[in-house]
Amino acid sequence: MIYLFCGLLGGAVLAAICVPLFSKDDTLESAIIEETEWDLLQRKKEIILGNIQDLDFEHKCGKLSDEDHQKIRSEMAEEASLVLKEIDNIESSQDLDALIRREVSARKGGVREVDPALCPSCGEKNIVTSKFCAECGAKLIGQ
Ligand SMILES: [Zn+2]
Repeated sequence: MIYLFCGLLGGAVLAAICVPLFSKDDTLESAIIEETEWDLLQRKKEIILGNIQDLDFEHKCGKLSDEDHQKIRSEMAEEASLVLKEIDNIESSQDLDALIRREVSARKGGVREVDPALCPSCGEKNIVTSKFCAECGAKLIGQ
């Protein structure tokens, strides 16, 4: 019974590993439209780490020999480290600016309008009825 259970689960795991491989083109295409390279790499990392977990599980179930397990696992680990390195590269390069811009613009959606009493020149908070900034004299927005 246990053996059957492992077999079924192993099959499901195998399908979970293979399906993303076969549908790669589709997901990649739509991902490029909606996501940055960083998002893509994050997802890739999750998939690889998940695959490693599955692999360990299959090994535990006795579906994989120690030798195969070691071999495939080291390949996956290498792939994972490559992805992690790429993520590192993006995070430490100017691409991070693009990432921040995207985060900020995503946040802007529900954010209130600019405070008309806030000085556009020096950032001083003026009383709402002011026409000019009390700090620097700049004309205030909306007055
Ligand atoms: Zn000012």
